[in-house]
Amino acid sequence: MSTDWKSMENKYYMFAARRQPIVLVRGEGTKLWDENGKEYLDFIAGWAVNNLGHCHPVIVEAVAQQARRLMQTSNQFYTIPQLQLAQLLVENSCLDKVFFCNSGAEANEGAVKLARKYGKMYRNNAYEIITALNSFHGRTLAMVSATGQPHYQDTYLPIPEGFVNVAYNDIDAIRAATTEKTVAVMLEVIQGEGGVNLPSPGYVKQVRRWCDEEGLLLILDEVQTGLGRLGSLFGYQLFDAEPDIMTLAKALGGGVPIGALLAKEKASVFAPGDHGSTFGGNALTCAAAYASTKFIIDHDIPAHARQMGDYLKGKLKTMQSNHEFIRDVRGMGLLIAVEFNSDMAASVVSFCNEGGLLLNPVRPNAIRIMPPLIVSPEDIDKALDILEMGLTKAARGRAS
Ligand SMILES: *Cc1c(COP(=O)(O)O)cnc(C)c1O
Repeated sequence: MSTDWKSMENKYYMFAARRQPIVLVRGEGTKLWDENGKEYLDFIAGWAVNNLGHCHPVIVEAVAQQARRLMQTSNQFYTIPQLQLAQLLVENSCLDKVFFCNSGAEANEGAVKLARKYGKMYRNNAYEIITALNSFHGRTLAMVSATGQPHYQDTYLPIPEGFVNVAYNDIDAIRAATTEKTVAVMLEVIQGEGGVNLPSPGYVKQVRRWCDEEGLLLILDEVQTGLGRLGSLFGYQLFDAEPDIMTLAKALGGGVPIGALLAKEKASVFAPGDHGSTFGGNALTCAAAYASTKFIIDHDIPAHARQMGDYLKGKLKTMQSNHEFIRDVRGMGLLIAVEFNSDMAASVVSFCNEGGLLLNPVRPNAIRIMPPLIVSPEDIDKALDILEMGLTKAARGRAS
């Protein structure tokens, strides 16, 4: 290979992420290829984005056709893909209205603005939002405030006020943090980036009940869990608790950048001029998102994700019983973490990469597994063989 991409990165690109030494050039389904033609099974899926895998023909075709017809207008005009996507999301969720933007952080910013306006209108100017420790809501200044992880906040102090981070899975912590200033509680149904942390039984429902009793809005950040990842179209459906506001991004566009903010009628309080986005909901991204979401719904991809998730988790549990250093296997659908009893995740991931399997070291002692939802049992078997090899090598390294 003539070009040294790594030194080009050193020279021109901000060093904001430490990368694996792999230059990816092509993807198809669950597979990716690097510049040398080496093949990888992708069990990161672009951060739980490529739910239909890489370059799914339905999405490729929608993008190509829309690109030829109309990509971007101003939001002073109606465009058709935006309205079709809005209808599809509303008809398949408990929410009534949609606003489109470009990312998860931006969707959550919109949710917070919506809640604050609601607080001004109906709750005597209440503005505070209770969020959970170990959550992840994005990288804008307000969202690092919302994100209950100090290492995302400390470099950027002062950060916006109006967020209270409390323990996850602790309804009493939410009760205790609620004051006359509180307007909403914002949670992920499963904390993804925080380590695939599951809610304890009844927690989401208890939070819903508390919000009802206190007149607070429940905001569910489904940026990672939405669109089938957990084995249902939206995560809230598994916990018997409807949000007043829900945010989506990641998998929504099947690979193109789009986010969405959805709300029940009573919380849809924006008036003209209150919020906006230049690119938000443009024809190109909405056409891609419509094609991807329609395919997910029509082919019941969530059911396949559930089956494949059960299969994968079952095999991982067997692996756990064979390796004393695996402390926990947890997750729902195809969002799964394997936790170790030491900080061996980086080493496991690096051996697996060499073996042709891409994984994410979500914590120093845990890996996150989130393949495309169209993954097959054969893909899973192959991935597990590579993982077994990676675990053995990493454990050997740890012992010496
Ligand atoms: C990834 C993620 C975000 C941020 O999304 P971006 O598109 O990176 O801004 C927000 N919330 C959750 C739960 C996420 O997983």
